[in-house]
Amino acid sequence: MDYPLRQKTFQQTLDGENLQGFAVTHPANLRYLCGYTGSNGLLLFLRGRRVFFTDGRYTEQARDEVRGARVVIAKGPLLEAASKLIGEVKAAAIGFEGDHTTVTTAAEMRKLAAKRISWKPTSSLIMGQRMIKDSDELKIICDAVNRGAAVYEHALQSIRSGVRESEVAGELEFAARRAGADGMAFDTIVAAGKRSALPHGRASSQPIPRRGFVVVDSGVVLRGYCSDMTRTVHVGRASREERRWYGAVLEAQLAGIAAVKPGTTAGAVDHAARQVLRRAKLDQFFTHSTGHGVGLEIHEPPRLGKTQEERLQLGMVITIEPGIYVPGKGGIRIEDMVVVTKTGCQVLTPVSKELIEF
Ligand code: ZN
Ligand code: ZN
Repeated sequence: MDYPLRQKTFQQTLDGENLQGFAVTHPANLRYLCGYTGSNGLLLFLRGRRVFFTDGRYTEQARDEVRGARVVIAKGPLLEAASKLIGEVKAAAIGFEGDHTTVTTAAEMRKLAAKRISWKPTSSLIMGQRMIKDSDELKIICDAVNRGAAVYEHALQSIRSGVRESEVAGELEFAARRAGADGMAFDTIVAAGKRSALPHGRASSQPIPRRGFVVVDSGVVLRGYCSDMTRTVHVGRASREERRWYGAVLEAQLAGIAAVKPGTTAGAVDHAARQVLRRAKLDQFFTHSTGHGVGLEIHEPPRLGKTQEERLQLGMVITIEPGIYVPGKGGIRIEDMVVVTKTGCQVLTPVSKELIEF
């Protein structure tokens, strides 16, 4: 990982924002900027220098992992140690992650602020940088996606009528661990029959019914990076109507993928997918946005929702995941991860989207 380059790029952002310093505390941002994977950490950018604070529990880990910053093991609260240092160099404006700071911490910061220092809440400064994945990140993400796909295909074999949703999820999660994943990116969703109409139906102890759709949405974490995929299969033979629904969702998903290219707004991609479902008179059942960014966190910007003006850029990794949820009947979602390329996008998820019937 090119931490020096990431730090340099972020320093340029700070200069552009007229900030003399910045306190990073959000774990994903710490990992991104200096490689630290522990929990209690504070990376202080201060007038071109970087100091990393943590507590005694992480002495070894910080020395091992942190790149491009001096490591300080603080005795008390990290914010207090950082404030002391800021006070010494008389920096005027110090930014912090407004999106990840509690009201209590913000009040603490004001109390600690020495004279002539002001804390400035900022939004998404680091996320703006994280949205565009570098080649190291893309390699790990592809690896995560491939392992996520392999464990899904393994778990597929356990899907049949009478098996509990939680058993299918357990098979999948065990396979993920065996495949070397750090863990799961989120609680695995296995939602069968009528429960497939719940967009976020976590695997329950319900047995899979004799017939109906089964939505499986899962993701692994590999070296910090998440994968995210959904497939919907059918237990028993699908009716004509169910086939029509599945076909419409698949067509919407392909339309979403086809709309992805640099310069297009996130909203336009959502529109492309939604329009297909509107033509099929199923759009009232499509109750969420078309996708989201993925990286060190499972849900990152950009969000691919109806009104999103954010423009897609080369190197963004996003999901395309339209779905329909027909109350009392069932639901279908198909989700791939894609990376934005110069001319469009490349689908990363290597799993067939043909309807499988067991
Ligand atoms: Zn998903
Ligand atoms: Zn997703």
